[in-house]
Amino acid sequence: MKDLKLNAYNIKRAISPHDFYSFELSGAKLKKHEWNDGGICPFHDDKNPGSFRVNLNTGAYKCFACRSAGGDVIAFTMAIRSVHFIEALKQLASDWGLV
Ligand SMILES: [Zn+2]
Repeated sequence: MKDLKLNAYNIKRAISPHDFYSFELSGAKLKKHEWNDGGICPFHDDKNPGSFRVNLNTGAYKCFACRSAGGDVIAFTMAIRSVHFIEALKQLASDWGLV
């Protein structure tokens, strides 16, 4: 693994939030460049789609029901997989073919 590529800046540049969330939120119709309806929230037992939003410019996410939120795809990965920052970078780099 090349350490050069394993930093947050490069990870965020390499993974488009649109591609990332299209994969992670397979049921959501993601179209706009900014805040989109992310469909069913993956962080709580969501029965009412509409609370979970993702920003396809920045990768930020926010749920207005359970208040899960984060600023980018790394924060989402940390939360959804319960991993620390460095582990999230490693997993993203591996999953998205950046290593
Ligand atoms: Zn939620």
